[in-house]
Amino acid sequence: MIREEFRVLLVDATLGKGKILQLDGRNEVVGGSGLAAMLFEKFGSPERAWNDESQPIIFAIGPLTGYFPLMSKMVCSFKSNYHNEYTESHAGGRAALSLQFTDLDALVIVGRAKQLSILSIGAHHLEVQEASFLKGMDAESSGKLLRRMFKHGSGHRSIMRIGPAGETGSAMACINVDSYRHFGRMGGGAALGAKNIKGIIIHGDSDFEIPAGGEYAKVYEDVYRQVTSTDMMRKYHNLGTPANLQGLNDIQSLPWNNLQQTSDPGIATITGTSFADETLLRNGACSGCPVGCIHIGFIREKMQDNRYHYNQVAYDYEPIFAAGTMLGVTNSFDVLRILDVMEKVCLDAMSGGVALAWATEAMEKGLISIKETLVSLRFGDAGAYLQAANHLGRGANDFYRLLGQGSLKAAKVYGGGDFACVLGQEMAGYATGELFFAAQSLGFRHSHLDTGAYSYDQKNSTKDVQKAVDFLIDDEPGRVFLTSMVSCLFARSVYKDEQLSKCLESVGLKTLANTIPETAEHIRALRWQVRTKTGFDPENYSIPKRFYQVKTWKGLVDKEYLDNLKKEYGRRIQAIVAEGDEKS
Ligand code: SF4
Repeated sequence: MIREEFRVLLVDATLGKGKILQLDGRNEVVGGSGLAAMLFEKFGSPERAWNDESQPIIFAIGPLTGYFPLMSKMVCSFKSNYHNEYTESHAGGRAALSLQFTDLDALVIVGRAKQLSILSIGAHHLEVQEASFLKGMDAESSGKLLRRMFKHGSGHRSIMRIGPAGETGSAMACINVDSYRHFGRMGGGAALGAKNIKGIIIHGDSDFEIPAGGEYAKVYEDVYRQVTSTDMMRKYHNLGTPANLQGLNDIQSLPWNNLQQTSDPGIATITGTSFADETLLRNGACSGCPVGCIHIGFIREKMQDNRYHYNQVAYDYEPIFAAGTMLGVTNSFDVLRILDVMEKVCLDAMSGGVALAWATEAMEKGLISIKETLVSLRFGDAGAYLQAANHLGRGANDFYRLLGQGSLKAAKVYGGGDFACVLGQEMAGYATGELFFAAQSLGFRHSHLDTGAYSYDQKNSTKDVQKAVDFLIDDEPGRVFLTSMVSCLFARSVYKDEQLSKCLESVGLKTLANTIPETAEHIRALRWQVRTKTGFDPENYSIPKRFYQVKTWKGLVDKEYLDNLKKEYGRRIQAIVAEGDEKS
């Protein structure tokens, strides 16, 4: 049976030491998002800067990690250098299962190592190993070296690392997880870089007990059957999320050329089908997932000695939008080449692509020149973007270092804030309309997965502010509970409350099984409370003019409707915080 208390490893990177803590709270915060918020309350300093040595970076898994299919994700939380507020990022790969096999619910790192280091943890060991020879090394090369340095446990072991973007403090720096997954957004790579930690090896060198008796096996079989027999397998495994490219282009909701258009005939060569037909090498999967939605394509390069070298590059809908349509690049191999550069420097592909789209339009309008960009940027010019992505990831000059802090920060200096496609952070690939623009700008992670707004916009053309905001507010607790479990959100059609209750009961978490709705509400409020303490205020987030010029299948965006949605959503979030404060 799963223990009710949390087992947390607290590492002080300054001292190179750690200790195990046993903490209560399973029935209140569950794990993942909830546990991370609880741990930030315990170890974080809301008023101190994101890179203060005392700030924690937190990695947390859920109670069902390893026990049920698609319970495969890990939450990373930290104070973000993008907005100096508390945030979360989520990733798959092997990390979650490795932490479970290390007999831990969470890893918390505070302090700052004296030199660039690798943190290696197992069920019975902890080591902070000096690794200054990895300074400036890209994700591919450091991954190869780390696999050689930590040979044991391949299969159970997870390797996370940052690249040059994280080392130089870019707010677009990601953490690469097991080569093909990422803690992508809000600058997680910089939060780890601020600890002087280049990589983390989680060895997963212990085991965990499977509940005895027939009930668990029966529930597992039922979940497995649902996961493998429903539409989910076909949808996510075959073409995967890139299937959305054509559909969103058809309904005028796909951002092109820095959101100057929402549809373009150029889609013909970068649909999900063309990526699969031309570039797909193989599918991959996070540990414990039978779906295998990870699509890995290939690119080939001719070397100086005339031999060919090929690289494997993971692709999804979002990176294709950011390195493809947003930049006007319509050759699938070119898109993969740009993503390969971003992967190497450990730049979040979505943020990086959207920032380069802003830079391109700023250059077209004469606000910046080659003096800043070092290369002439033009929509559709993949060769220029290969160089610019490298400059952005490595912070090649003052301009790129500023752009790496966010397009709006660069626009403050150079102008062009009206066409910066920023909704809390660089936009996700859904120009679906008013509700999505309001929801991403105020969503907890400024992620399209914070809410179902992108889907609501596609089905609703009425302009009812209360109905739309009710939809966001009512939908959030369920998502928050899933990210506390920590389930892949692709499984949300299987893991409804009734199913989750059976799963929790079958592993002995009976109290939690019977209190899902109220626990979800509690965690939702807790996350917003923590974020608010670090400075969140809806009034601080504005929506750039470009979003008001967007035309979707519903016509031109309605300014009044969008402004009212944002105002009402912000008011409701503040009401949740006030109610949570009253209760606590
Ligand atoms: S569906 Fe994809 S992202 Fe989700 S757990 Fe499976 S492989 Fe990972």
